[in-house]
Amino acid sequence: MDSTRKNNPVYSTTDTARVTMTEEEWKKILPAEVYYIARQKGTERPWTSKFESFKETGTYYCAACGNALFKSDTKFESGCGWPSFYEPISKGSIIYTPDNTHGMERTEVQCGRCKAHLGHVFDDGPPPTGLRYCINGVILDFQKAADAAKQYKEKTNQ
Ligand SMILES: [Zn+2]
Repeated sequence: MDSTRKNNPVYSTTDTARVTMTEEEWKKILPAEVYYIARQKGTERPWTSKFESFKETGTYYCAACGNALFKSDTKFESGCGWPSFYEPISKGSIIYTPDNTHGMERTEVQCGRCKAHLGHVFDDGPPPTGLRYCINGVILDFQKAADAAKQYKEKTNQ
């Protein structure tokens, strides 16, 4: 999804510094569908994400800023219509916020680096965590394990 990264000066899979930008700035650099989910807390239609039944091995990043969010080995078939994971890649990769909109008590999950809206977390997931991170596919960027390893190698060789 290189189109997501084009004209996006904050996109980085290695820089973990927090990103704070105005909504105006986000609107300029994000594709409309990513902006709608990330900044306006939108929800994509179920069963529309190519990641819903995606099985490649690798890492999922925030499409707005490049922050690593989930590993493919924590992804599972939830049947809910959105890509689902049982555990984030690290504690700091995600921010949890109570969400009482739409008459429901839910927990919103946001990107730990740029605070993009990702989706919600529910407590009906599989072991070992029992959690289900229900994530909009639009806000996910995927990199295959081989590509990520290569990038890591290049980084450490610098
Ligand atoms: Zn982000």
